[in-house]
Amino acid sequence: MSGRSRGVTLNSIPHMQITEIYKSIQGESSYAGMPCVFVRLTGCNLRCVWCDSEYTFTGGHRMAAEEILSEVECLSPDGGLVEITGGEPMLQERELVPLMQRLLDSGYSVLLETSGERPLEKVPKGVIKIVDVKCPNSGEPDTFHMENLEVLNSQDEVKFVLSDRSDYEFAREFVSRHGLERKVGAVLFSPAFSKEATGSRDASQCLLDPRELAEWMLADKVIARLNLQIHKFVWDPAMKGV
Ligand code: SF4
Repeated sequence: MSGRSRGVTLNSIPHMQITEIYKSIQGESSYAGMPCVFVRLTGCNLRCVWCDSEYTFTGGHRMAAEEILSEVECLSPDGGLVEITGGEPMLQERELVPLMQRLLDSGYSVLLETSGERPLEKVPKGVIKIVDVKCPNSGEPDTFHMENLEVLNSQDEVKFVLSDRSDYEFAREFVSRHGLERKVGAVLFSPAFSKEATGSRDASQCLLDPRELAEWMLADKVIARLNLQIHKFVWDPAMKGV
């Protein structure tokens, strides 16, 4: 694969701050269970109370776009899924946008996992946006950039991480008020995991019992997908790089 992309030379893209790049199984969204390369960018401007990625807030290492691309190609030479995540990857929007375009041009399916707080209009067409809307008990309520509703399309997904009934009711109302199920490919209701979770790989580590959430969703006929973080049921919930 070359270092060029529709007028963008990768050498011209400034370096990015990267926490880790690895291959695992996609744990969430409609793509859960599929092999995926994760490119995890350093830094986040939010502080969600149940965040399991605090190790991304600082540190990392500078990488050129070419180095990132070649590591992705090494891990997944025949294409496939690449997830750009963090931290909050859109904090490095200027560098990230051309890299995502280059990954698309190279034949990868690109997922962008974002908090929803940053504007998303510059994300290249073709990137599948998995966008959080932070709920009241996340510690970061009212951070969703409402204009992002205008740039979501039928391939994108919106995720609500829920820690109790009041979060669930907020999510249910948000979905209904904005007709989200008609706007995006999937609405994801995800029970928050305890950030201290370690050892047992079961639903007791969730802050909200998935069975209770499933029953609420069925009772209310919510058109959303129950989204479990399956990597936390496959590996130790505290394990990084999976
Ligand atoms: S937006 Fe994501 S990385 Fe940032 S604090 Fe919240 S959960 Fe953690």
